[in-house]
Amino acid sequence: MSFEALGLHTSIVKAVSVAGYEKPTPVQEQAVPAGIAGRDLLVSSQTGSGKTAAFMLPALNKFANQEAAPAPRTPAQNAQSARARGERVRFTPAQPKMLVLTPTRELALQVTSATEQYTAFMRRIRAVSILGGMPYPKQMQLLAKNPEILVATPGRLIDHMESGKIDFSQLEILVLDEADRMLDMGFIEDIEKIVAATPDSRQTMLFSATLDGVVGNMARRITKDPLTIQIASGTKRHENITQKVHFVDDLSHKNRLLDHLLRDETLDQAVVFTATKRDADMIADRLNIAGFAAAALHGDMHQGARNRTLDSMRRGQVKVLVATDVAARGIDVPTITHVVNYDLPKFPEDYVHRIGRTGRAGRNGIAVSLVNHAEGMNVKRIERFTKQIIPVDVVEGFEPKRSAPARSGARPGWKPGDGRNAGAKPGQRSFHKPGSGPREGGFRSEGGFNRDSAPREGGYNREGGRPAAAGGYNREGGPRRDGGPRDSTPREGGYRGSHPRSADNARRTFGDR
Ligand code: AMP
Repeated sequence: MSFEALGLHTSIVKAVSVAGYEKPTPVQEQAVPAGIAGRDLLVSSQTGSGKTAAFMLPALNKFANQEAAPAPRTPAQNAQSARARGERVRFTPAQPKMLVLTPTRELALQVTSATEQYTAFMRRIRAVSILGGMPYPKQMQLLAKNPEILVATPGRLIDHMESGKIDFSQLEILVLDEADRMLDMGFIEDIEKIVAATPDSRQTMLFSATLDGVVGNMARRITKDPLTIQIASGTKRHENITQKVHFVDDLSHKNRLLDHLLRDETLDQAVVFTATKRDADMIADRLNIAGFAAAALHGDMHQGARNRTLDSMRRGQVKVLVATDVAARGIDVPTITHVVNYDLPKFPEDYVHRIGRTGRAGRNGIAVSLVNHAEGMNVKRIERFTKQIIPVDVVEGFEPKRSAPARSGARPGWKPGDGRNAGAKPGQRSFHKPGSGPREGGFRSEGGFNRDSAPREGGYNREGGRPAAAGGYNREGGPRRDGGPRDSTPREGGYRGSHPRSADNARRTFGDR
């Protein structure tokens, strides 16, 4: 199928062709015609599937057709003309026609820059990002131009709404991008408030890794007769990405292996994920000393510094980006060939998003997780979530002293050390048989996500970067039974779930205001 056949305006077909898109991706094939028909959409599709164009192209198509038949002028446009004539006009709020809400600043900037590509041959369509971390005066200037499209993170948007700088009465299209992630970050109340400020007549498109649970409930509340599109099942995800687990004995083993892996001659660019901001900085420094062009990216950095780092990555000046989950969400650099999980993510969903930084736009990628022997349970959780076995690999010269423990995909009857399943010979690849019966026992997790099995003090959890009072909070906001992870520095991230402080903490941690 071609982009013309989807029913898109010629200016948009031309723009996607200039962007190098030859044919629509599966999510675009399904979402674009339904979006053009004005349907509300609930879409679950994998990261890197072309979802931005899936919601942006039908919206732009609507605006392109409105260009032919100009809509009545809005108060904001009248004020703009009066200003152009030199008349003094009181501030009038921006009245966007489309709002895209994203969980992170990086994703918002990504969506805005993709929109600029898609509107290259359209007149009068301006997309701006409204983000935490950006100076208010600059945002006021952008809003004063009355852009048709706002791409925003919820916290800062609420600030502008509450101070009367934005009026959603003219809004025609609302998009929630990575809705699951926004809820995880505690933005539910902000989202509800924003949605309530938009007209009921709007078209709503919600994109999410999952449409179950809390996301599904919210999706049903804010959409009307939506078309549900599910593109990739868990098992089909990331077929173009080779995934591996390497077991390591200790931190020194892990660092030596990281150094070795980053010298792979097939590596073009890599993202190394760490659990904490402090580790991201430290590892980037160490890699620089070792001769890699490395840079850190995390939520403590000012937005300007984050943008500069990402630009350097896009230009190929940075070869190895050492990042935390929050900062890396939405990074779209097609030349990233490798993702290394220096620390495993706390939640399996984050694993899927992390490895999705490679294998973009139809290319192949490699995703390697460096895992302590005590972290096997966490690998299992990821495998259960992705419905895929992650093969264990061993690099000659970097063999762990302890043989790899039994894995969930191991054949029944296997015993440690029988040579069929664990402790693969140097250079030997996977031993797993997806679909084979689960094994009793398997990994024993010793203290969750402690780094390199060394117990640490502190009790900071992911949910807010503050000491957990009674064992911390779990994903749902209730007290954890296991005491939570024990990294001595806060994990990157805000309060999750429905904990009352969640939104504030998410914003504070992400600097989203
Ligand atoms: P997204 O899922 O929107 O983040 O897109 C992932 C990557 O795929 C981006 O680099 C897009 O520019 C690219 N992309 C989106 N649609 C297409 C298409 N139809 N053909 C080729 N590349 C695409």
